[in-house]
Amino acid sequence: TRERQDVPHSIMNLIDGFKASKTLFTAAKLKVFDVLNSSDGLTLEEVASQINASVFGTERLLDAAVSLGLLEKQLDSTLPLYRNTEESRRFLVSDSPLSLHGYILHCNDMVWPLFSHLDSAVREGTSQHERAFGKIKKDMFQDVYYSQDDVKMRFMKAMHSIVKVTGKDVAMAFDLSAFETACDIGGCTGAMAYELTDAHPGLLVTVFDLPRVIEMRRHFQPRAHNERVTFVAGDFFKDDLPQADLYILARILHDWSDEKVHVLLNKLSQVCTPGCGLLVSEILLDEERRRPSRALFQALSMTEGKQRSAREYNDLLEKHGFATQEIKYTNNLLDAMLFIKKDSNDKRT
Ligand code: SAM
Repeated sequence: TRERQDVPHSIMNLIDGFKASKTLFTAAKLKVFDVLNSSDGLTLEEVASQINASVFGTERLLDAAVSLGLLEKQLDSTLPLYRNTEESRRFLVSDSPLSLHGYILHCNDMVWPLFSHLDSAVREGTSQHERAFGKIKKDMFQDVYYSQDDVKMRFMKAMHSIVKVTGKDVAMAFDLSAFETACDIGGCTGAMAYELTDAHPGLLVTVFDLPRVIEMRRHFQPRAHNERVTFVAGDFFKDDLPQADLYILARILHDWSDEKVHVLLNKLSQVCTPGCGLLVSEILLDEERRRPSRALFQALSMTEGKQRSAREYNDLLEKHGFATQEIKYTNNLLDAMLFIKKDSNDKRT
């Protein structure tokens, strides 16, 4: 049947959008996808008992999840059986290699409360951390994400899960064979570093991040020992950066104002010799700032940072002597740009 033009379907979908998100978040948080993964289908009572929830509530949650295509419901046995879809198996089961579980919990526990204050955020033009969590924010990372161990772990798992899904595409976006050593600035759990060493067998990668992050590195190590990835603790605004001939800035620049980006790029420019590479991985806005919505939604969190287009990144980096070599729109969660440090003679051309 053709979609009726006189019914506001897309607006109705947006009105219900928050209920759909919360259905997904709740099913993930209650580990519905995990319990269903260990069998070939479970009855409602079995799921309810394994997730420790009421049968009444579980039935409504599972049926809503079926309607969203997150679960399948099989009706040809005496009791209906619920099972994961193929996509849920890949991306929602918490220990699957490409699991988004960590990111979903971050969205549920951190982003959701912030967005419930979006009207205040827009009116005031400020982040709502204090209103949502009762904390005073100075440095988002050091004062909010890393002030408590459980929040830190949740944030790190969220970062890790995004890189699991998108890191390979970023690591393989460019020919990096000219580089022998790389430093992933703000490299968090090392997930991108491991992807880079898998994709580029000659490359050695140092992960540089705050001490509170680096101390957790063993929680995120892959099973196979990888001595080509090493970790250095430090503050990228204050401390010396490790030497490398390729630097990675994956989801770093969008967190900071132009002013702070210039501080960091200035430091990078000092350690980079001509020919040095700089790989920036972000969601790239189109030049009219119309898409993708994911980037524009992220901007609504009103941190001091901002979402930028490829041209805006180019303009920022050009001021520090870097020229755009290649841009890759991956059609995954993150895009990538490769810059090369120019000769100091043509630094500001
Ligand atoms: N690059 C990772 C990724 O793509 O998943 C993590 C991105 S996360 C949005 C930003 C990272 O920058 C965090 O790991 C955080 O700890 C790190 N970071 C923030 N401020 C920092 C600082 N002053 N010095 C070093 N690392 C910092």
